[in-house]
Amino acid sequence: MRDVLQWREPVPLGGTMGEPRARGRFGEYGGRYAPESLVEACREVDEEFREAWADPGFRGALARLLAVHAGRPTPLTPAGRLSEALGVRLYLKREDLTHTGSHKINNVLGQALLATRMGRRRLIAETGAGQHGVATATAAALLGLEATVFMGERDIERQALNVFRMRMLGAEVVPVTTGSRTLKDATSEAMRHWVGATGDSHYCIGSVIGPDPYPWMVREFQRVIGDEARGQCAAELRTGVPDYVVACVGGGSNAAGTFAGFADTPARLVGVEAAGGAGAARGRLGVLHGCRSLFLQDDDGQITQAHSIAAGLDYPGVGPEHAHLRDLGRARYVTVTDDEAVGAAVRLARAEGIVPALESAHALAWVIRAAGDGDLPAGSTVLMTLSGRGDKDVSTLKELL
Ligand SMILES: *Cc1c(COP(=O)(O)O)cnc(C)c1O
Repeated sequence: MRDVLQWREPVPLGGTMGEPRARGRFGEYGGRYAPESLVEACREVDEEFREAWADPGFRGALARLLAVHAGRPTPLTPAGRLSEALGVRLYLKREDLTHTGSHKINNVLGQALLATRMGRRRLIAETGAGQHGVATATAAALLGLEATVFMGERDIERQALNVFRMRMLGAEVVPVTTGSRTLKDATSEAMRHWVGATGDSHYCIGSVIGPDPYPWMVREFQRVIGDEARGQCAAELRTGVPDYVVACVGGGSNAAGTFAGFADTPARLVGVEAAGGAGAARGRLGVLHGCRSLFLQDDDGQITQAHSIAAGLDYPGVGPEHAHLRDLGRARYVTVTDDEAVGAAVRLARAEGIVPALESAHALAWVIRAAGDGDLPAGSTVLMTLSGRGDKDVSTLKELL
């Protein structure tokens, strides 16, 4: 499958991946497309977040939670045997080693702490396969908040273990019976529920999507990935900065957090999407869940269902900042099939002793393909974010292998 975009020279960056323009605009994307009551609630989250993010007390409290609860900083692991086989120098940023096993904890701890600061006592979240729901339930338990998680009925049937985990952590899981009874409908339902609960509840969105300020707030909470990796690369690499920075893209939060650490460098940024959920590579302009971005749509503009073996990449769109980075030519978005991702997962397991999440395996699958077809020049240094561990995917893999 050929990539949609060609490289352009990296643009000199000053402002890229800083604050969005007024009303949360990234180029023509973003915004706050929500009912009036939610516009007000978003305005409040925006104000509080700006204050908190400028407050050393808040930053310090979050850094401490990330250290003592989530296990940060995560290591940068040279993938020695795989690098040798591929002819590139591959380094893995190990988000799989965080508490709960993926980068999602970075965002939920940030938002839970913000909710506490705002005097909210409950978190509302949507979840697809349950990963963001489990992370939210975890952060809520840690900070003594309640959690209400909306989940499509079909997903509840498919993900019984994660439903149990959330309940074990004290969260309420609310089945959503509308539409396709999956993530898209759970998100709509969570937003609807928030309308009537803005006084005591914070809506904790799981990726760089939704109405302003969520896309850039979530990116800022995930920036810790890129900032840590930047420092680790400076210590590890002769050039200080890798030639390529690669991450998988569902809504785009682990990629945005990683890219943010390198936006002002010459590193080439690559976002890897699932072939069946390629919002950035194949989506069209639309509005969904409060923001203007690129979404998979049919000819009537109806949002179509995404399909990926990796539950976290099963979102029919992409965050507005990624759409903008694509237009700027600052980042490039490529796609990988289910089969390629499964092959990459096995390869990483056998070469490095790491079983990756199938989402993260997409990023690796592109590295493997690109090293093979010369798209990644021999000898390149590559930083790849390993967004999560594969424990949740072993039963899927067992069926296939
Ligand atoms: C949820 C998830 C993703 C996709 O979400 P982004 O917002 O695109 O980062 C990727 N990897 C893992 C392990 C996940 O759990």
